[in-house]
Amino acid sequence: MDGHSSCGKSTMAKTLAKKIGYTYIDTGAMYRTVTLYALRRGFINGDVIDEESLRRELPGIEISFGHDDQGKQYTMLNGENVEREIRGMEVSGKVSPISAIPFVREAMVEQQRAMGSKGAVIMDGRDIGTTVFPNAELKIFVTASDEIRARRRFDELTLKGENPVYEDVLKNVRERDYIDSHRAVSPLRKADDAIVLDNSDMTFQQQDEWLMEHYLEAAK
Ligand code: C5P
Repeated sequence: MDGHSSCGKSTMAKTLAKKIGYTYIDTGAMYRTVTLYALRRGFINGDVIDEESLRRELPGIEISFGHDDQGKQYTMLNGENVEREIRGMEVSGKVSPISAIPFVREAMVEQQRAMGSKGAVIMDGRDIGTTVFPNAELKIFVTASDEIRARRRFDELTLKGENPVYEDVLKNVRERDYIDSHRAVSPLRKADDAIVLDNSDMTFQQQDEWLMEHYLEAAK
């Protein structure tokens, strides 16, 4: 599953994975974790990224996923639960430039292919259908209007106790889409054989039903 920022891909993917017993892999969380690492190490100063230092330390960045008592997935950076931190605005503001660095993508794609090598996986991101798994049995490209996506992100951040400003969230969603779609290496785009879902006017239930129908069709 690929698509624009904050269009609810991960919620849909998680729900389907749970229903059919597949493993859900959030590739955005992986790029976010590298970004958090770079921020903590002081490798990002304004618009300048110290790529050489990041390249040197990248092999030492271990990203993994854990599950809490309720089965909720969280992301770990070298064994530390960083789920909350990677979702904040600071990481969101820097993740697209970090994700555009070719050696970062190479390392993440290699790990993602290894994670999916045994199959029974639902992976969401920006380049899954085009680059990571070009032979996936089912490819979905999700989108929704900018304003609706920003509103969803805003609500999510508010629920988590942050104090976001709607205009900042909208700007971030647009900026990320722009950078993600215009980068040189595996830019965000719909795979030729992906099915498009615009969920702007859909309820969770409607989109889950839509996805299940397509899954059942592909699984035949
Ligand atoms: O999915 P999420 O919004 O958490 O992704 C955060 C960022 O990570 C995206 O805006 C994009 O820059 C990057 N990303 C990527 N390729 C992926 C998944 C995410 O470049 N497969």
